[in-house]
Amino acid sequence: MQLIPLGTNGFIPTFGRHTMSFLVLTERQALLLDAGSGVSRLLQPEIKAMIEPYDDLSIVFSHYHLDHTIGMSYLPAAWPKGRIRVFGPARPLVSSDPQSALEKLFGPPLFPMTVDKLPVPVEINPVTDTELELDDLQLTFWRQAHPGGSVGIRIGNEITYMTDTAADPSNLEFASDVKLLIHELWLNDAEAEGQKLAGHASLSPVAEFARAAAPQSLLLVHHHPKRETAEVVAMAAQVEAQCGIPTLPGAEGKRFEL
Ligand SMILES: [Zn+2]
Ligand SMILES: [Zn+2]
Repeated sequence: MQLIPLGTNGFIPTFGRHTMSFLVLTERQALLLDAGSGVSRLLQPEIKAMIEPYDDLSIVFSHYHLDHTIGMSYLPAAWPKGRIRVFGPARPLVSSDPQSALEKLFGPPLFPMTVDKLPVPVEINPVTDTELELDDLQLTFWRQAHPGGSVGIRIGNEITYMTDTAADPSNLEFASDVKLLIHELWLNDAEAEGQKLAGHASLSPVAEFARAAAPQSLLLVHHHPKRETAEVVAMAAQVEAQCGIPTLPGAEGKRFEL
């Protein structure tokens, strides 16, 4: 299995970083975890070549905030070939569902076509259960605390993807014993002080969470758009020093073998 981060920022693309999207490639499928502005990287020649062999594209959403979904509207250019299968959380996992979210995103006056009139067929599957078998992948979902709700997504024992959530000890069982933990890191400790975090994570709690979850490595994502690259790298180094787990700032376009 390969993982290629396409977008690692929260909210706004800045400093050469796009908003949230991660490409997962297995023998049988190409899958995106979220579809923020990072989807635009599917047009980069080296990434385009990686997805070329696949007929279908699957997209699994953590939730529907724009920094995780805006790239859906790029797909007529970025994936002009086979079927797109969308798997998005619905009640009781979150308070919305993929059909109504995509109907809001596609259609006049915001987009010239409705979702059912896109050039490639889009199959929309609401996820209401915590388990989903998707070809050669076993996916597990976990309800997280975030405005409107979000889900953690686990792929076998390879990847746990937790974004748009606080570093919440009640998520630990879901996150434990994976090769790669992808966790959001939105604020540093000083920024978090005195601020009531609404469904986002700060540095020391993330380090503590990672230490307890004990993945082989940790990838930090959903960076704050105000941070220049040096600060993102420094925060990853600080987390690594605190948790003792090899920690990477989200490197977009880099290929991770799992
Ligand atoms: Zn977000
Ligand atoms: Zn969000």
